[in-house]
Amino acid sequence: MEFIDLGRQYDEIKEQLNLKIQKVLNSHHYIMGEEIIELEKRLAKYVGREFCLTCGSGTEALIIPLMAYDLKESDAVFVPAFTFFASAESISLAGGKPVFVDVDDTFNMSITSLEEQIERVLKEGKLVPKGIMPVDLFGRSADYDKIIPIAEKYGLFVIEDAAQGFGGTLRGKKNGSFGDVSATSFFPAKPLGCYGDGGAIFTDDIELYNKMKSIRVHGSGTNRYDNVRIGINGRMDTIQAAVVLTKLDIFDDELKRRQEIAEMYSKELENTIVVPRMDEDHCSAWAQYTLRAKDEKQREVIMAELKRKDIPTMIYYPKPLHKQTVYKEMGYDQELECCQKLAEQVFSVPMHPYITKD
Ligand SMILES: *Cc1c(COP(=O)(O)O)cnc(C)c1O
Repeated sequence: MEFIDLGRQYDEIKEQLNLKIQKVLNSHHYIMGEEIIELEKRLAKYVGREFCLTCGSGTEALIIPLMAYDLKESDAVFVPAFTFFASAESISLAGGKPVFVDVDDTFNMSITSLEEQIERVLKEGKLVPKGIMPVDLFGRSADYDKIIPIAEKYGLFVIEDAAQGFGGTLRGKKNGSFGDVSATSFFPAKPLGCYGDGGAIFTDDIELYNKMKSIRVHGSGTNRYDNVRIGINGRMDTIQAAVVLTKLDIFDDELKRRQEIAEMYSKELENTIVVPRMDEDHCSAWAQYTLRAKDEKQREVIMAELKRKDIPTMIYYPKPLHKQTVYKEMGYDQELECCQKLAEQVFSVPMHPYITKD
């Protein structure tokens, strides 16, 4: 059994996909071809935002907006410690300081911890609170109903890390539409993946959009050889856009399948082990289906037994970000109780739209 069965998905879309890729090859527009423009239009409409910019990866989709905010060394951006490394890394790369926030049993940013950390930073007076980066971990929207008012109260920007969340909704509103700007990833294993690296940025703010568009191509001004700021090469390849366009056609059906599979898992497992939270407001994109063992020892036993039955499992994430070597050495020695507990308990089981009941 596969953890994520991309081969099975390819069989499903092979014909249309091969045609679309062939079209790009015939056009010779490997960079910024018409598929890029078409994809940006379709993605913006899909999430319900004014503007979309495709880019080279999910990490770049975080770095580009953070660069647009001109972060200084003393600028704090609040980010959960229980996420993929790129969430915090992008803040450091863009010149700011990640401040780690604990999570709760939804796996997402804890509102209590967020306010505690903002207050702590203000009281210490060394860093200046600038932004919040909630993460839609495993596909479930963070608690934007509570996060946005906190951001407004303290005058902070909100950048949504929807790398795992694309396709998920909060009361019908799509991930990728929350906060000032959102980032997603088309890494092959994400809910909507391409066949290499890719990502996209969403916003309703035209000024921010224009600035990010410039940063995406070396800080370009009126033309490519006029450089008005420091940027990067952050473009997505046209061939990858052809892949995402093709997969978008079947994406909603796939999301429905993911939801059915998650419900099936939960129904069978909820009396045995802690299953992921589901409620009426949230419709997860189910990037991962993540269970919680009692402790590290029980998790080891369960994972070994599943392996014996040829069922792959993964641990997302074994080490919270503030405990990663690089951040530990930078003096992050705080205790974030829930992150640490989850790192010892969680494991994810196979999740993709082509799992059968058997
Ligand atoms: C995958 C991921 C990223 C980075 O995306 P890439 O396309 O791999 O660069 C960022 N944040 C989270 C939460 C992710 O899961």
